[in-house]
Formats: sequence, C-alpha cells, structure tokens
Amino acid sequence: MKISSNFDAGNIQVIEAENPGNIRLRIRHDHNSDFYQWFYFRLTGAKGQLCAMTIENAGGAAYPEGWEDYQACVSYDREEWERVSTHYHDGRITIQHIPESDSVYYAYFAPYSMERHHSLVSQAAEDEKVRLHVIGETLDGQDMDLLTIGDIAKDKMVGRKVIWIIARQHPGETMAEWFVEGLLDRLLDDEDALSRSLLEKAVFYVVPNMNPDGSRRGHLRTNAAGANLNREWENPSVENCPEIFYVRGKMDETGIDLVLDVHGDEALPCNFIACFEGIPDLDSAKLDLAYDYQRHMMQANPDFQMERGYPKDAPGT
Ligand SMILES: [Zn+2]
Repeated sequence: MKISSNFDAGNIQVIEAENPGNIRLRIRHDHNSDFYQWFYFRLTGAKGQLCAMTIENAGGAAYPEGWEDYQACVSYDREEWERVSTHYHDGRITIQHIPESDSVYYAYFAPYSMERHHSLVSQAAEDEKVRLHVIGETLDGQDMDLLTIGDIAKDKMVGRKVIWIIARQHPGETMAEWFVEGLLDRLLDDEDALSRSLLEKAVFYVVPNMNPDGSRRGHLRTNAAGANLNREWENPSVENCPEIFYVRGKMDETGIDLVLDVHGDEALPCNFIACFEGIPDLDSAKLDLAYDYQRHMMQANPDFQMERGYPKDAPGT
C-alpha cells in the first residue's frame, strides 16, 4: 500500500501509511504562504480493504468552515469523480472508503489539470473565431494563455463591447476552470443563436487559468512566489506576480466593459456575484448596471441567485 502525490496538482504529506485502518496525512502549505486546503493524492495497493485516511491538520486550513458537511472527491479514472464518506471532527477530516481498484485518487474537488488546460486551449484555438496569444510567462516558466474570441480589427470594433473573463486566480478553486470549459463550449458553438448574436455585439478576452504555477504545484490560493494574485491588482510587480502584471497590462490596452473573475467558495453552496462596492471611486451608475446584470442572470438561470453572497464593502474599504 502506498500514498503518493508527485504529479500535476498533487498535494499530500504522509505521516504514516502502514495500516489501512489508520492512514495519517497532512496537507502541504502553499509555497511561501500559510494557506492550505487543496489536497490530491493517489492510493495504490489497497483494493477491497477498508481505508481510513485522516488529514490531521485540516482544522488549521484556510477555511475550516468548508469542512462542515464536506465530502471528499474520489475517482479511479480521473474523469468521473464521485463523493465519498468524510467526517470532520476535532480539527481532522477522515475519509473512509473501500477502493474497488488498486489505484484510486482522492481530491478536495474534481481537479482541473494543466494537461486538460492545454487541451482546452488548443481545441479552442482551432476555431476560426479564436486567436491565442501567450502574453507572458509565469515564474515557473509556464505560458500565460489569453484567448481572444471575435474579430478585433479596428473597423469591426465600432460599437462592440469588450468582455474579459478570467478564472482560477486561486488555483484550488478548480470549478472556475470547469466554468470556463462550459462557457467556451457554448460560446464557440456556431449552432447556438445566442452565442452568435453575442459575438456580433462583443469581443471576449478569456484567461482560462490565471495561476498555472499554483495549479501545477497543488496550491490552494497562491502562485509560485506565494503571492495571493487576487490582492495584487493595484500595483502588480513582474518579479512577484507576472500573471497579474501581464493580464492587467493587456486590460489597460483593450479597455473593459465587463469583467467576470471566476472563483469558487469553500462554504457558500450557491452561485452569486460579488460586485465592486469597495472601490474608492465607486460609480453608482455602474453599480446599478451590475445589479441589473445580476437580475437578468437570475431570470435566465435558476441556478443563479442574489440573496446569499459576500457582505458588501463600503467604498474605499
Ligand atoms: Zn477565490
């Protein structure tokens, strides 16, 4: 029996794995950071045995409230993921499972690997409506991929909106890249009348993964330098967070009518939008537009709601 995590997005430390009934584990911190919560590991050689895998430092994770009623994800083929019996008690989570195979994977949430990211980007780039630009490199030397959807020739841009969609600044929020996969699927479908009409009115700039290094390293929140990218937009440095430096530079070039910055939340089990109430020069007309947008979303999609979400910040806080 063996537990390993030396693969794309893997994260676990083994304290003890001699006895299937008492496997003791810890989650690794993000590099240069106190954040941790994402885990992803492989268990081999335990087919048919009742395994109890305890993550002993779960209580000190970034969002311990996320462990209440939490169920870990399990997969044999890393395509189909299911939930598995998990208990949170005294700051530890214990996953109990009888593997049906000698190779089984457990993760915090269905992973979205960098390999899948590459497939997503290359498939999108094959579409004639799409251009792919590598706008820079991360600290680990990975490409920062930007997909541009729609014709951006100057004469074609008259009257068209500029929409940015960025995802996964926090790499442990893999659902954000699953969101982009679904979005690209629909937006690039020539049979879809709504998508066709949207592309007549707007051009889309899409960054499916804002944090490739954190993703590959199995981080929860930060990049290779330990920077929490979500907090680096005001004055991004190319040394510490090239991801934001390059994307913000490009946004300054194109201008913006709408940005969706896609995240997942550890505790809130619903879809919501956190707006920009906290910015110092809050423009109430723009805020009204953002609320209007949410009301339209709610009408278009019963999965979206406005009742639950983050508390609204006062301007400048
Ligand atoms: Zn996030």
